[in-house]
Amino acid sequence: MKAGLYFHIPFCIRKCRYCSFNSIPYDKEPAGKYVSALLKEMNLRGGIEPSSVYFGGGTPTVLPMESLRIILEGVREHFNPAPGTEMTIEANPGTLGGVDFAALGGLGVNRVSLGAQSFNPEELAALGRIHGPGEIIRAVDTLREAGIANIGLDLIYSLPGQDMCQWEKSLDEATKLSPEHISLYGLSIEEGTEFHAMEKAGRIALPPEDAQAEMYLYAVNRLEEAGYGRYEISNFARPGYECLHNLNYWSAGDFTGLGVGAHSRAGARAARNVSGVEEYIGRLENGEDPREAEEILTEAEREREFIMLGLRKRRGLSFEDFRAAFGTDFMSKYGLTAAGMAYAGYISTDSAFACLTMKGVLASNRVIMEFF
Ligand code: SF4
Repeated sequence: MKAGLYFHIPFCIRKCRYCSFNSIPYDKEPAGKYVSALLKEMNLRGGIEPSSVYFGGGTPTVLPMESLRIILEGVREHFNPAPGTEMTIEANPGTLGGVDFAALGGLGVNRVSLGAQSFNPEELAALGRIHGPGEIIRAVDTLREAGIANIGLDLIYSLPGQDMCQWEKSLDEATKLSPEHISLYGLSIEEGTEFHAMEKAGRIALPPEDAQAEMYLYAVNRLEEAGYGRYEISNFARPGYECLHNLNYWSAGDFTGLGVGAHSRAGARAARNVSGVEEYIGRLENGEDPREAEEILTEAEREREFIMLGLRKRRGLSFEDFRAAFGTDFMSKYGLTAAGMAYAGYISTDSAFACLTMKGVLASNRVIMEFF
């Protein structure tokens, strides 16, 4: 079975104030057990031919080099990715000291996604990041020297108190480093985070919606001028450097997730691993499968997901792919809604695709909901 392979590494130096990901502070002993558990899970998930491999988190580069080597050798042994398969590792600019990226490259890693987030020291401090702007620049140098030819930078906008000048500075500094890929995340404040408590106490607030839209539109123009094509609402790449792993998600392709809280999908079958690190390790040490929930999605749920993901892509939702997945013509089923949305200027259609216009991108959640 061909599928994208995802590995979740849940350890970080410390929790960022906005973070709602499944991550806990790094501790040597549980991290060692976690790596052993991951190897055991690889044993359970045989028969997959990886279309891409992605190590996310958390901060995978917080692990000692020896652990990263063990995991990558496990991937090679159990899944044997074809030479040149896209293999990404997420990295925090503050945790690259002990990582030998040239050695990781020798083990198949050919793409690094760097959580830069901002180039303003005050913003990085407010977010609770462990690095400053100088470490981002040094990290890119380190990666280039190690021969990593595909680097992605993540940036966050719509921060409490952020103004256009600060956002322009982050975009300028990011493009100056010439990464192959840039992702933009509009901050949302999630329950359970330190930011959520601060917002409830009235200490921080997100910028108003029109300011958020202005920041996004500025970024789209700035990045397109600099040679980065927008291929998804939040993702930009130089030609040929679109992230294949994420494109597979947005095309509703199959994927297998390993590690704590990881999700998997094979056609209509959806599965999720247990979300606690101790429980994950315990299950695998006892010879049990860490998947806690498996369900068969209904046709309606899959269609909904297909529309939601397909419209996120710049090229849009493919009518041919929709027909191949559901045996139905998209426009016969959703033509009325599509026509209404097109009339209002939110989407455009041709004979093969329906895609969001820029007006539609700015109201994407609302537009997508119109189809359900
Ligand atoms: S580095 Fe990433 S995963 Fe870790 S706490 Fe910060 S935002 Fe969360």
